[in-house]
Amino acid sequence: MINMLKLQITYKQRLITICLFLLALFFLNFSNHISAEDADPSLPEGYVLTTLITGANRGIGLEFTKQYLEKGWRVIATCRKTGTAEDLRLLQKEYPDRLIIDRLDVRNHKRIDVLARKYKNVPIDVLLNNAGISGGTSNQIFGRFNYDAYNTVLETNTIAPLKIAEAFYPNVRDSQQKKIIAVSSSEGSIDNVFKRGGRLFFYRSSKSALNMLMVNLAYMLKDRGIAVGLVNPGATGTDFMSGLPAFFPLRKTEDAVEDMIRNIDSITIENTGAYLNYNGKTISW
Ligand code: NDP
Repeated sequence: MINMLKLQITYKQRLITICLFLLALFFLNFSNHISAEDADPSLPEGYVLTTLITGANRGIGLEFTKQYLEKGWRVIATCRKTGTAEDLRLLQKEYPDRLIIDRLDVRNHKRIDVLARKYKNVPIDVLLNNAGISGGTSNQIFGRFNYDAYNTVLETNTIAPLKIAEAFYPNVRDSQQKKIIAVSSSEGSIDNVFKRGGRLFFYRSSKSALNMLMVNLAYMLKDRGIAVGLVNPGATGTDFMSGLPAFFPLRKTEDAVEDMIRNIDSITIENTGAYLNYNGKTISW
């Protein structure tokens, strides 16, 4: 009889322990889920701020993904090869309910349309055009220009952000923050050519043209309440800069992204069309 009683108590204790454990799990998950609303009481109840990022598997795009997740946002992280996006997979273990990984080669317009249909009715607060390529320095030497490489640079850096803005416009329109952002470069500034000298014809012109497209969009979408902006990370130590000599001063990716997020936060309908350096100052066109 005493043995039976002992068994019953042990069973009850186990049951209570399991219930308490499940309750703790529920609250942990719940607090993670609502952290974005906690940060901004002006948002509708249950609303989670969302960003869609291109080229999110490495470099600046990966860091954007990390930092937006840390801020409590939902991130739709897109990249060319989801199968080998190890860093994104690791992040997904940490943020299973707020990180979505999807396949997107930004040069593939059909795929952009497929994704726009897939995410129909999902508000996107910050549409973040980050994917970009330099085109390789050896392809951009006067007298030996590689025009196929130039096409690829334009398709990736210039045309894709416009196509993506067009395809995901309804998602941005129906969001709370309503921002279309492109990662540009100070190399896209025509003014800077006279200070820095002639180089990187393809890359520079792709970013200048990107700037022009985004300012056009800013003008067109202002009345619809959508803000458009261009941000520059500064020379940052990603694969993008791997060909440079070791003494060349490069910014930490974490710092570059922290600065750009602060600048994206500062872009509103009032300063739409802004072209912001990492330090918050306007870059001259
Ligand atoms: P990285 O070379 O480290 O990363 C580039 C990213 O873009 C990768 O995720 C790459 O994917 C992706 N990408 C390239 N082509 C495509 C494509 N067709 N479709 C989808 N994704 C693609 O560069 P950064 O992270 O440094 O650069 C990010 C952005 O910042 C670029 O727009 C760049 O111009 C800009 N920038 C960078 C500076 C720097 O100093 N690092 C300075 C100024 C601007 P994959 O892995 O598949 O190749």
